[in-house]
Parts: sequence; structure tokens; C-alpha cells
Amino acid sequence: MKVVVQKFGGSSVANLERMRQVQEKVERKLNKGYKVVAVLSAMSGETDRLLNLAEDFSSRPDTDELDTLLCTGEQTSTALFSMLMRDKDIKTRSVQGFQIPVHTDSFFGKSRIRNISSDNLLNLLNDYDVLAVAGFQGCDQDQRLTTLGRGGSDTSAVALAAALDAELCEIFSDVDGVFTTDPNVCMQAQKMNRIAYDEMLEMASMGAKVLQIRSVEFAKKYNVPVHVRSTFNDIPGTLLVQEDNNMEGALVSGIAYDKNQARITLVNVFDQPGIASKVFNPLADAGIVVDMIVQNFSKENKTDITFTVSKGELEKALEIIEETKDEIGAVDILSDTNVAKVSVIGVGMRNHSGVAGIAFKALDKENINIMIISTSEIKISCLVEEKYTELAVRTLHEAFELDKSNSESMET
Ligand code: ADP
Ligand code: ASP
Ligand code: MG
Repeated sequence: MKVVVQKFGGSSVANLERMRQVQEKVERKLNKGYKVVAVLSAMSGETDRLLNLAEDFSSRPDTDELDTLLCTGEQTSTALFSMLMRDKDIKTRSVQGFQIPVHTDSFFGKSRIRNISSDNLLNLLNDYDVLAVAGFQGCDQDQRLTTLGRGGSDTSAVALAAALDAELCEIFSDVDGVFTTDPNVCMQAQKMNRIAYDEMLEMASMGAKVLQIRSVEFAKKYNVPVHVRSTFNDIPGTLLVQEDNNMEGALVSGIAYDKNQARITLVNVFDQPGIASKVFNPLADAGIVVDMIVQNFSKENKTDITFTVSKGELEKALEIIEETKDEIGAVDILSDTNVAKVSVIGVGMRNHSGVAGIAFKALDKENINIMIISTSEIKISCLVEEKYTELAVRTLHEAFELDKSNSESMET
């Protein structure tokens, strides 16, 4: 049995007309002899609508019930799409995460997939030509519905492709592929024909929401061939591939940004063993993901620690920190949601110096202040004031001449 997984994002299933375009893409694969697992997102705007609705009903909705609510978004898309397909006499049925089942942990709102059993799906594929599978959702060991975090349908699709040993996983979206930066922010952004898994991992984790980071982790781990492309044309998109020698040629391959950041500064904490552990372990125990962390060297026995968390987790993080405030000697706890992280990414910078210098000079030219800098061997991230995000992205894109070509080495 030849199986292909095709994932369609919110804008691709936004209404009847768009779903007809999805139908066409699916039919084309059917005509080539494939069985199709169509992983669908909620209709565009639906997840946000449900989140707002929850806030009308509760000042602090519990995450378990939120997940049960959010799952209805994807459920709706799969049922409607199945009806559309059946009208054309194509053997189709909708499948929800818990029916597969997609087993996850119990971190509601940001669950991680533990395992997916393929038996059910393979049986269903004997009876149906198309399965309209709800993305973004699973269930935990207590049979509670869970969701995989915003953009989680990408992860559902790649994980299903891995479980089914599918020939290909196509991620259809409202852009033609993965670009050197968000094409909706920078008109000069260039589509890449190929991108290395590691580079895509950094792009995704630095905020390029075209793929959810966990989907790239799955793709890399299980070597899933992923093709990111547009629902609205037939132009070849971007292939995720293993890094090869040619790729080292490109110093910088992309710029990403993340506005979902909040900064916390612990002022004048003790500079002694155990302080970082007292700060960060309770946050980790509460499932809060800490991103950038900066602590300076101090000649005195006091120093500041600054770090970032997602905006949605700021309140909870502050409550937890407040409890250790005296123990760590903090004289004040400051926070700021008016920040964004802008990152320069490229596997080529591993063996080159000077990339940071070019980035800092470009930001300086626009008078953009850098609050925090963090680096890995293939990325440099700067925390800046949120209002400068777009300007910083464009300026860095230009400074690394990403508008001139999509780096020759990336051509297939
Ligand atoms: P979908 O609903 O199809 O999952 P998303 O909105 O989650 O789509 O992701 C697609 C969006 O990702 C694009 O519209 C674009 O604005 C954004 N994006 C950010 N960075 C990039 C990038 N480097 N390449 C392509 N798109 C990007
Ligand atoms: N519907 C979910 C979201 O809006 C999941 C997805 O679209 O991938 O984040
Ligand atoms: Mg998405």
C-alpha cells in the first residue's frame, strides 16, 4: 500500500472554496495510486475564536477543559472535508486523535506525542482511500483529550508519516515554502529549494511558524521526507534534507523572529552556588519553558539574572519566582512583555567568525538596542523592543544579502 500524508493548515481549509482546492490536491494523489492521510487544522481563526470564548466563560480556564474545547476545531474540519469527499464518491472518513490513538503526555496545551499505533490506521486504509485526520490532538493515559501546542498539526502530520512509513509528508500552507525569512514581513525573502533539518530546527525554534519545531524533530529523527508547499499553486516548495557539504557554503540562511517572548529580570540576586538551580528548577517542574538566560560575571557577591519565557506563561512564572525571592536575595523582580527575539541562522556560521559583528552593526545602523544576546554554533539571537521586530528582520536580511539569492548551494 502506497501512503502519502498531506497536511493542510488553517488557511487551506478556511471555507468551502478553499477545501475544494484541498480536495483537488488529495484527488491528484489518489489518481497516482496512493492512499491519502489528510491531516487537517481547524478552519482559519477557529482556534483563536475558541480561546476567546473560553475567556468569556472563565477568568482562568483550566488547560484540560481548554484542550477538550480546542479539539472541536479540528473535528469540524475533518467532518466537513469528509462530507465533501463523499459527495464525489471518494471513500473517506474522519478520524480524531483519540481514535487512532495518538498517545501523549498530560501537559495540556503543549502535550508531546509518546506513541502512535499504526494498526488502526492501516486497517482503516484497507477500507477507505482517504482518512481525514484531525491534527493537533491526542489523548493521555486517562483518555483525556490533549493538544500539541499552537501549530501542532504539523507535528501530527510528520509523526503520522513516520508511524505509517509514508513515502512523503507534504505540508501545505499559505506560502510557497520555507523562505529566508517570513515573506509576509520582508518582501525580499527568497524561497529555499532545500533546507537542512538542523537549520529548519533552529528556524522553527526561533519562531518561524511555517513548521512547528516538534514536527522538524520528528522529521529528523525518523528521516521523514517533508515537502513544504502552497495549497494554492503547483510550484515546488522546500524539501527538508540531511545537511550536505554544499550547505556549509552559505554563511547565513535565514532570519527568524518570535514575538511570543516576555523578559524577567531578577535584580541583585546572590552570586553563589545553587541560585540558578533554585530559580530554574521550580519553573521546569511547572512545565514552564525558559528560553534565553543571561547572568553576568560579578566582582561583588550580587548579580542580575535575566531570562525569557513565553508571554502566556509570564504570570505563572512570576508567581513561582516570587516564592523564592527572599531565598535568592533578589531585591526586585522586573518583567516586560514588550520584547521580541530576532535570530540569524545558518549552518555555515559554525566555521566562520564575524557573523555576530555584521548583525550587531546592522542593528546599530537602525539604532535598535539589544537587550539580550544568546548564541549557539549555528544561530545568534538578539532580544529587542517588540516595535522594532520587522525593522530588525529586514535590516538583518539585507545585511546578510539574503535578498540576492537563495544561496546557490541550496539549489537542488
Ligand atoms: P498554516 O495555517 O498553514 O499551518 P501558519 O500560519 O502556521 O500556516 O504558517 C505559515 C506562516 O508562517 C506564513 O504565512 C508566514 O507568515 C509564516 N512564516 C514565518 N517565517 C517563515 C519562513 N521563514 N518561511 C515561510 N513562512 C514563514
Ligand atoms: N489549530 C491549531 C492552531 O491554530 C493547530 C494548527 O493549526 O496547527 O494552532
Ligand atoms: Mg501552522
